[in-house]
Amino acid sequence: MSPIRPALGFVHPRPPKPAAVRAVHCPYCNHYFEPSQRAQTLTCPKCTQRLQFDDKVLHKQSRGEVATVGHVRITAASSLTGQIVCGHLINNGRFEGSAIVHGALELDPHSTTTGEIRARSLHAPPGATLRGKITIGPTHGEGLRPVVTVKGPAPKPPAS
Ligand SMILES: [Zn+2]
Repeated sequence: MSPIRPALGFVHPRPPKPAAVRAVHCPYCNHYFEPSQRAQTLTCPKCTQRLQFDDKVLHKQSRGEVATVGHVRITAASSLTGQIVCGHLINNGRFEGSAIVHGALELDPHSTTTGEIRARSLHAPPGATLRGKITIGPTHGEGLRPVVTVKGPAPKPPAS
């Protein structure tokens, strides 16, 4: 028996792989877009801020602002006081300040998280300390800076 061979007309080339698409919320203005390439930095099409895509691991005691679309991890012996906007936050150490996490906030059993925290979801095992104003839910509209949208001239007051 000869092997069955498909007729040539039925041999299709493999469809091209879909481009790797990331869902991105700009940490500055929260504009949502889907860049198709895995770049380390990108410019937000709305507010033109340069966005960092790299994952950050914090190893020391630090203060300041961390803004990335990627993951942020505060390691066990380290702490951050300040502001974080990121796609995913893992706290193994101490954090104090305000954080907007567009994805999951993961706490280590020995971690301490204090401040105003907004995250899409929360994983807090027994032993983790979480104090402050905590909001879990959609982070839509949250960013580092408020966005002012001007939509045409203000409506005229009624003539009197
Ligand atoms: Zn932006």
